[in-house]
Amino acid sequence: MIETQFFKTLVVAVCMLVLAPVLLADGLDDVMPIRGFCIAAPRAKDLDAFIAFINKELGPRHVNTLILRVDYNFQFESHPELRDQDILSKDQVKQLVAACRSNQIRVIPQINLLGHQSWASTLGKLLSVYPDFDETPHVKMPEKYEWPNPDGLYCKSYCPLHPEVHQVVFALMDEICDVFETDAFHAGMDEVFYIGDDKCPRCSGRDKAELFAGEVRTLRDHLAQKGRVLWIWGDRLLDGKTTGLGLWEASFNNTHRAVDMIPKDVMICDWHYERPDQTAVYFAMKGFNVVTCPFRNAKAAVAQAQDMARFRRSSTPAMKERFKGMVQTVWSDAGQFLERDYNGKTDSQAGRTTPWDCFKALSDEIVKLSKVE
Ligand SMILES: [Zn+2]
Repeated sequence: MIETQFFKTLVVAVCMLVLAPVLLADGLDDVMPIRGFCIAAPRAKDLDAFIAFINKELGPRHVNTLILRVDYNFQFESHPELRDQDILSKDQVKQLVAACRSNQIRVIPQINLLGHQSWASTLGKLLSVYPDFDETPHVKMPEKYEWPNPDGLYCKSYCPLHPEVHQVVFALMDEICDVFETDAFHAGMDEVFYIGDDKCPRCSGRDKAELFAGEVRTLRDHLAQKGRVLWIWGDRLLDGKTTGLGLWEASFNNTHRAVDMIPKDVMICDWHYERPDQTAVYFAMKGFNVVTCPFRNAKAAVAQAQDMARFRRSSTPAMKERFKGMVQTVWSDAGQFLERDYNGKTDSQAGRTTPWDCFKALSDEIVKLSKVE
């Protein structure tokens, strides 16, 4: 009798051990379907270290979505003239894809489209090679960048109505999605300050919300032909003045009305780095799938994860499914992140943690939430 009891206990214990990871995964998927990480793709020299990081940290911390900001860090065949330096080969991308697959991570490549075509005093690859696509060719790149500046230059944009721009952009999108074997593409589209410029012969006088929405729709429709989903940052769809969210985190140039003009199947990445603003509810109520994205404020990230779980718990079934989860953002390239943040060489600033510490707090909180519910 005692032996039978012992045997039963043993069987239950073995079953628990086998099922625990499965049960945890189910709990996680219900509480936080998307558990993401977003970072600039590694340069070729940092590839091995980054793959080790995927295996050692992202997989074990239950990340299931990796947004890799690739931009021109790939040996494009369709447009070799746009290749950056020290970039990923096709074989190297396949190593990344394999590492992600073995950790059940979906990869979503990003190329910044529309905005972010320059950074500080450096013009990006697209406008360097194709200056005709520039929305504001009259704005010269400064030798020493300062903000504020008389031109209101934050980043350059391409002109969404230029007749040749999409031929180039579509080829890049297709190639990067193919090589990453993915069903989703992130187009950036954040912080677009230059749009509908008064001096642009095509855009001047046009409604900026319609111009922004038109570009979202154009990119979305192209991806949809191959069953791919468009992901974008959400800031241009929020009214910066009314919400008090300001110039970067939301729109001050009236693009926010585009929220009612774009297809509902666009995934919104709603970033708030300093406070746990609850704008995910706004996007979900407009019919969009949404993820909340922190950066380097661990306290805010934990609150954002709790909010996301609560939104899912307290919504109608229709709304619940739109609250998709959380994506940790890292705004350095993978090499720098691993060298400095991950190795504990970055000092935390007042009220801020490093993105690595923020991510650890966030992933711990998600696991905690999955056990409570
Ligand atoms: Zn234009």
